[in-house]
Amino acid sequence: MAIDARQIYLETLTYVYATGGVDDARNQLLVRLLRALALEPETARKAAVEARQAAADGPAVTESFSPSGIYVRLCELSFRAGGEPLREPLLETVRTLLGVGESDANGLLAAAREAARRPGRPAAPAPEPEPPPALDPDAIEILAPSGPLDFYRPSGRFELSGVLTMLMGVVPVSIFLGLLYGALNHWIGVVQINALMPLFAGWAIGWIAARSARGARVRSRLAVSAVALAGGAVADYFSFVAWLYLLSRGKLLALLPGDMTLPLEWIVEKGAWSIGSHGEPVRGTWLILAWIAELVLVCGSALTAAYATAGKNVYCEPCGRWVEEPKSVFVQPQAPCEEMCATLAAGDLRGLVGLQHTDPKSELNVRIELAQCSRCKKSQFLSAVWRTIYVVNGTEAWQESVMLDKLCLSVDAFTVLSKRV
Ligand SMILES: [Zn+2]
Repeated sequence: MAIDARQIYLETLTYVYATGGVDDARNQLLVRLLRALALEPETARKAAVEARQAAADGPAVTESFSPSGIYVRLCELSFRAGGEPLREPLLETVRTLLGVGESDANGLLAAAREAARRPGRPAAPAPEPEPPPALDPDAIEILAPSGPLDFYRPSGRFELSGVLTMLMGVVPVSIFLGLLYGALNHWIGVVQINALMPLFAGWAIGWIAARSARGARVRSRLAVSAVALAGGAVADYFSFVAWLYLLSRGKLLALLPGDMTLPLEWIVEKGAWSIGSHGEPVRGTWLILAWIAELVLVCGSALTAAYATAGKNVYCEPCGRWVEEPKSVFVQPQAPCEEMCATLAAGDLRGLVGLQHTDPKSELNVRIELAQCSRCKKSQFLSAVWRTIYVVNGTEAWQESVMLDKLCLSVDAFTVLSKRV
């Protein structure tokens, strides 16, 4: 094995120190040697410290300094390491630099070979490998499993004034949307389209309920759901107001339930619309069932939307405020979904570090969300969602499956993840 530049420098310097130290001429020689070896300044500095120590600890050197003395020591080192000095280009460069001629070299080599056969100085130690600079193992270990997992749960707290504030926002919107889809029901008259309208209206009402809960600091999902359901019921009621008004050609404005009863009874008996252009009018029990289905659609979609939207909000109870929207990062997963889910469910977050970032629109990715209360910086949460793209009727859509939903993190774990993910 050939000796390397550091070993050559270390051995030369040890020899220089052991034979009387550095004077001007030797300094010139060392400078030329350093240039030829192209050592890093830091490596050279460390080698100098080591050489001083080795010269002090090593056996006394009786010979006086000479460039050929250096060459013999270097060749001896090379033989001890199992090398062949004349075949080592670096040693050949050094030989030229020391001014040792080829004819002299043969004699010196024989001396070096002889010295290498004697037990004596061990070969210079190989340089210790530098630790890889990329990852700090201690930091990553913070992300190893530690105890049972704790997820964010809304405290369920709210004030009555908060719910009233929510209703003040949700009810007018519900009245407007109800009137609108009641009128559209009358004008469009296609059952399939009419069935979709309560669905959209309900979705909008649920979304507004969840957003207003944020403003009103309502952390109870039950309260948010109740407001969304109330909004859905109001919309359904006012859709009848608009529908009856248009059906009666402006003659009946039934705002109160009492005004609505008689006309509705009459419609149940006679029917007002049919499925298809030539079908029999739908009446009796079937008509009542259709109206119930409409109510279920608008309230159901309001409830679903409210629950889904409100579920994204995180409240920091000590600070009395909502945590800011999470920071999202999209990464390329390195393991199948089930495997990644199992690792994360076991509380092992180390696999999230070092994943390659990817385009949010790539076919397969994982969305990692990190949220922290910016005021106290003590409430922090991690969510992870597996996302795949699939094509339905030529349209691309995302299929998402939640792997972690607002896992509570320690400050240290949050710091490591926010730096490395
Ligand atoms: Zn806070």
